[in-house]
Amino acid sequence: MQRRRITIEGRVQGVGCRPFVYRLAADFRLTGKVRNDTVGVTIEVQGQPEALDGFVGRLQDNSRDDYPALMTIADCGFETITLIPDETAFSIAESDAAGQLVSQVTPDSATCTACLAEMNDTNDFRHRYPFINCTHCGPRYSIVQTIPYDRPNTTMATFEMCGTCRRQYEDVADRRFHAQPVACPACGPKIWLADKSGITVETDSDAVIAKCAEVLRSGGIAAIKGIGGFHFAVEARNEQAVAELRNRKRRDAKPFALMAASVEVIKEYAVVDALSEKLLKSPEAPIVLLDKRTPNAIAPSAAFGTDRFGFMLCYTPLHYLLFAEPRIDVLVMTSANLSDEPLICKNEQAIDELGEIADVFLMHDRDIFRQVDDSVVHEVSGQAAFLRRARGFVPSPIIHKQSAKSEIFAAGADLKNTFCFVKDRQLLMSEHIGDLADGRVYRHYTRSVEHLQKLFDVKPTVVVCDLHPGYLSTHFAEQLDNVKLLRVQHHWAHIASVLADFDESGPVIGLVADGTGYGTDGAIWGCECLIASLTEFQRFGQLAYYPLAGGDKASKEAVRPLVGLLGEEGLTENADLLAAIEPDADKLKMIAMQIEKSVNVAQASSLGRLFDAAAALLGLGTVNRFEAELPMALEAAIETGIEGAYPIELFDRQGVWNLQYTPIIQGMILDMRSGVSKGVIAARFHNSICEGLLALAQKARQMTGIVETALSGGVFCNRYLANRLIGRLQQDGFRVLWKKSIPVNDGGLSLGQAAIAAALIEKM
Ligand code: ZN
Ligand code: ZN
Ligand code: FE
Repeated sequence: MQRRRITIEGRVQGVGCRPFVYRLAADFRLTGKVRNDTVGVTIEVQGQPEALDGFVGRLQDNSRDDYPALMTIADCGFETITLIPDETAFSIAESDAAGQLVSQVTPDSATCTACLAEMNDTNDFRHRYPFINCTHCGPRYSIVQTIPYDRPNTTMATFEMCGTCRRQYEDVADRRFHAQPVACPACGPKIWLADKSGITVETDSDAVIAKCAEVLRSGGIAAIKGIGGFHFAVEARNEQAVAELRNRKRRDAKPFALMAASVEVIKEYAVVDALSEKLLKSPEAPIVLLDKRTPNAIAPSAAFGTDRFGFMLCYTPLHYLLFAEPRIDVLVMTSANLSDEPLICKNEQAIDELGEIADVFLMHDRDIFRQVDDSVVHEVSGQAAFLRRARGFVPSPIIHKQSAKSEIFAAGADLKNTFCFVKDRQLLMSEHIGDLADGRVYRHYTRSVEHLQKLFDVKPTVVVCDLHPGYLSTHFAEQLDNVKLLRVQHHWAHIASVLADFDESGPVIGLVADGTGYGTDGAIWGCECLIASLTEFQRFGQLAYYPLAGGDKASKEAVRPLVGLLGEEGLTENADLLAAIEPDADKLKMIAMQIEKSVNVAQASSLGRLFDAAAALLGLGTVNRFEAELPMALEAAIETGIEGAYPIELFDRQGVWNLQYTPIIQGMILDMRSGVSKGVIAARFHNSICEGLLALAQKARQMTGIVETALSGGVFCNRYLANRLIGRLQQDGFRVLWKKSIPVNDGGLSLGQAAIAAALIEKM
């Protein structure tokens, strides 16, 4: 006989780990105990060595069907300990109360197959129940008000469990053991249908769903309450209906997300590769960007200006019930907010603010405590890359080998904000918060910081923010009392976020392809080659500076960077091309004059603005109505299979290697004048940027011997550029670090800030 203590870490609490361990111990006839503690889960098992080995094997074998769907073991430790004679049973012990673990709160998770089967079973008492859930699925993070994660601390507190639900909740052998949101038609939340003024028009569950489906089939707009907020739903193949939604939502040109009940349906409209299928079907159920099939029957205005659709599968029981209705198989499901404001999650607020847009409201009475957007991913270089990290992923921490010396708060960036806390070995990132310039988003930010600080039980003594003196996140950080404040350059944080994702410390060659970030010289940076570790960085290379006129307007109006990039001579020579792009000659003159006189003009190495200018030059539009609209159009224009590029020129400016943009712009103009197609020019432009970054990396490797190359920045959301550059670097012998678990855009910045702060205080 032997007794072993096994400690497991990772996502092991609140996911049905203890009942699973209990059943495993019974299978192998082992005695002992299991309990949650501050590290994860500790198991003691006693029995014959072969049985113990079998137990450990099954504990780690997540390929089996009975493995808890949401459980992931990050780390596993073993030791042999003293036998306990006379032990006769295996028990689940009370949690170690010494510390409540943050990993108690798990992300919201899509309905599992077992729950779906029950929901569709006419004999089950939860037949057609829109809130069926279990330990392996259902809402979590979005309903937790405070810790510890127990029912009274969730928005389920108002629902008293019935006898049956309670028995399941308390039965260690049951799939619903300690599933906090457990509910049934007798005791749980209910749905109803309300008209646009909020008056309830139907309360019978099945009739509510049937009537909502009828509204959708006839081209109406429904506001549907989900897990992390409301969606607007509309029949996706009905152009009139989709256009009407766009019209009523105003100022919104962004592509709409789509929802379907099965991958088979999605395949009618988009190309689904094996990885994307896996992502769609995962418990996280994100929106996955997929190449459009052409032609397809989706309404053109659902997603114009891009060659991709953002699809997700149903992820709540309510979605499945709705999609089981006749002729409901693909719907637009877009966040129900006004332009870029935070998601709406309260019933009254929804009626107040969305009544002008929605024809009906599909409501329920389970409150959403935290608004959480749908996550967005796409495939890059054979792996999932995040564009937005929110529902399904937050609040899973990134766990490092080394514990941080102090607790840290990282304020993030102003665009696509997320923030991050560091506590011991855990880096805890918030979900996507949004663009802080909007007053409502900013208030949501400050409230979220406060709430998550409590939820994660952190008391930061170190605060880190962006170097940008005008960022609202910087101001917020500056106001915090009794903390040490660190300021970190934007693109250093970008590269550090990659290091943090890999739990490495560098130095690496950091290739940054970004919109804008405040540079150490006060200029607008954005296309950089850094030599960076977590404790220092050096600007090794950059895109040559060009004058950028007009402050905030510069990121909207593409002629502003274009005029700066063309220069005086280029403007005169290409007056005809410019006139075709911007008919307002006075405006062009004004911008040129502004640059000449240096009024409200910054030096910029922004790659995002170069993409804007290139798109405008090709006649693909002049205004970004939403972020990166023009670069997305430029990417969508690419003709496949084009290998050529414009000449790459590097020159040394005061010890920093500069990539010259003039040959690229001139090459494009030459091609345009000789009638080369837009698709070919768009490809050559992308290829040139790729070759330019590669050339900088090669120079950096030559000088330093470093082969590790980290890629970050919002321009890498461009899949063509990311794929091509990763491939070219790998071919050339670089080891490429490409982020696995956080976005490449500013949504990942807070993780980099946090990692830098942790490394810097370690040295202090
Ligand atoms: Zn379930
Ligand atoms: Zn019940
Ligand atoms: Fe950035």
